[in-house]
Amino acid sequence: MNKKYSKITIEGDKKTEWICGCFQTADDYFKFCSKHSQTLQKAIQAQVDELDMTLSID
Ligand SMILES: [Zn+2]
Repeated sequence: MNKKYSKITIEGDKKTEWICGCFQTADDYFKFCSKHSQTLQKAIQAQVDELDMTLSID
């Protein structure tokens, strides 16, 4: 087992790494840097609104 990867629960080797810190592993797992994960979270929330999903809580 690779200790370096098991610590951060990422399997496999980095396939693509961007200068900002985002990377994609050989298993197509994406890890985003803090800057882009924030942007992505906003994008996901905007898409959820667009999907008009019903909330399960009041
Ligand atoms: Zn990034």
